[in-house]
Amino acid sequence: MTVALLGLPTDRNSSFQRGPAKAPAAIRAELFNESGNTYTETGLDLRGPGVLEDAGDAALFEDDGDVERITEAIAARLRAGHAVVSLGGDHSVTFPILKAYAAAVPGIGIVHFDAHPDMYPSFQGNPLSHASPFARILENGGIGRLVQIGIRTMTPPQQRVADRYDVSVFGAWQLEAARAALPDGPVYVTLDLDGLDPAFAPGVSHREPGGLSVREVLDLVASIPGRIVGADVVEYNPDRDIDGMTAAVAAKFVREFAARIYNDANAKAP
Ligand code: MN
Ligand code: MN
Repeated sequence: MTVALLGLPTDRNSSFQRGPAKAPAAIRAELFNESGNTYTETGLDLRGPGVLEDAGDAALFEDDGDVERITEAIAARLRAGHAVVSLGGDHSVTFPILKAYAAAVPGIGIVHFDAHPDMYPSFQGNPLSHASPFARILENGGIGRLVQIGIRTMTPPQQRVADRYDVSVFGAWQLEAARAALPDGPVYVTLDLDGLDPAFAPGVSHREPGGLSVREVLDLVASIPGRIVGADVVEYNPDRDIDGMTAAVAAKFVREFAARIYNDANAKAP
């Protein structure tokens, strides 16, 4: 099983600032530069044969048709037997990604790191807003549990959605409880970089202090008991970054997610 890297350069559904459409290129430039080697924390070399394949960027046109284009790009990779690590783009991409995953992997659990719940039924009149993907994902169905971690901006309209669909929401101050709730079975991990504290990831459109450290997120992901079958890293905004700090963080997560997915899929039976 090969892990495909797919760029999703879109930010038309961002509510405040644009910029994340430039992220896939910036994260790629950081991924395999000369500042580090290609081994991950698990000891896996991402340059090993058949481990990682760069699938390039999906052809997107910044119109409503992009929802179908993203779903089809992901579905094509899944049909080929690959897993996908997607490079956003803003967080709106996770709805079309999960449409494909929910169809291919029924009952897939979701671990969602973010400062924001992203469950507005609609935001600024846009149901595809990056503030709304999890409302769409929950309505679309086909998923298992949704576990949100790092949340520190809950609002009443989003709490109503969380209550209706029994979403497990953990604040940035509730990481031990979150660890105990991490899903079993196949799991998708979506990382909005603003879930991290802006001290670690300043290059985001919506800085929300009081967030997680890079180490905390890595360790929580390592604690997921289920098999990780896909992931995304979203909301990197190069226009807001400081000396590429956040690009390095995004690339770190892409590498570690890819390694975990590869290891889970290719683990030898005991
Ligand atoms: Mn966010
Ligand atoms: Mn988000």
